[in-house]
Amino acid sequence: MKSSSDDVLHEMTETLESLAKKGVSRRDFMKFCTGMAALLALPASFIPKIAEAVTGGKKPILVWLEYQDCAGDTEALLRVTKPTVGQLILDILSVDYHETIMAPSGFQAEKSLRDVVENHKGNYLVVVEGSIPMKDDGVYCCIGGRSAVDLAREVCGNALATIAVGTCATYGGIPAASPNPTGAVGVKEAVPNATVINLPGCPANAENISATIVHYLTFGKLPSTDKLGRPYFAYGKRIHDNCERRGHFDAGQFARQWGDEGHRQGWCLYEMGCKGPETFHNCPTIKYNEGTSWPVQAGHGCIGCSEPSFWDTMSPFYKRLPKVPGFGVESTADKVGAGLAAATAAGILAHGIGRAIKPRKEEGGE
Ligand code: SF4
Repeated sequence: MKSSSDDVLHEMTETLESLAKKGVSRRDFMKFCTGMAALLALPASFIPKIAEAVTGGKKPILVWLEYQDCAGDTEALLRVTKPTVGQLILDILSVDYHETIMAPSGFQAEKSLRDVVENHKGNYLVVVEGSIPMKDDGVYCCIGGRSAVDLAREVCGNALATIAVGTCATYGGIPAASPNPTGAVGVKEAVPNATVINLPGCPANAENISATIVHYLTFGKLPSTDKLGRPYFAYGKRIHDNCERRGHFDAGQFARQWGDEGHRQGWCLYEMGCKGPETFHNCPTIKYNEGTSWPVQAGHGCIGCSEPSFWDTMSPFYKRLPKVPGFGVESTADKVGAGLAAATAAGILAHGIGRAIKPRKEEGGE
């Protein structure tokens, strides 16, 4: 009689053979597991456990819902070439519904989604990309004759957990920018009873999506989060903390015009409006496009896209924000978030109109 370790070994072998057919070697796979352990801040002893978790056992069912968005998160993950979400989706998860990449369409596609909710209640994962319009009964985004909010309440409300990817799905994003014509909100606000983890960013980083899924597969639960529902492993530190231009900030060396000597020398972009000191994300350490680069490395300041209401609270993008209460080297995400909310509320009151963005006078920031 076969032991359970034989079963795991057999399943691992099958998955590795399947990945090999797609050009992903066993070495690549172990590199992926090592990278995931590092990203999740786990010791090296967890690497075999991760390898076993992502290759063994029954494939978890996942459905991917797409609402008011630009499909940037789907694009970001489908363009990766090393074994990460692209392969996870095809080999490790059972993706039963994804509007952008699935073969079925029309009634057949909608039936796939219904079947998951009816037959696997409480046992499937959902990824949501895009914001959910609440105004006028959600009429501004409908799929198969049903509003996004109606669908999200049913699908996310009956799921094991929902991973909101990108700033639109987490906090409403650009569709929610003032005056928010469709009443756009993130998943947690639209479906308060759902278990939701937020991976904001524009787009969400495919590595962080991978790591969240890998954490779930390895430990059977989602990673711990801050008050904004963001996992600490990816959003526990400010952009500013790990930025490669930080030495220039500390030395008082700033670019003051695009293309000036300081900009050409790679000096700090704070004077050009960089919001890295107010933004929590691991962009400087994992970067985008498989570690190729990220905005600050390319010469553009951070625009704070992984913070709630960034389009309203972080603009004008090319000017320093007024001095934000709570900002200092000892600040945490929650303190800075509260400071930004207070600064925004004060701005709305001061201008007496329902619009948070107004050109603000610099107040001699940090
Ligand atoms: S470029 Fe931005 S994130 Fe980097 S050190 Fe300067 S202010 Fe901080």
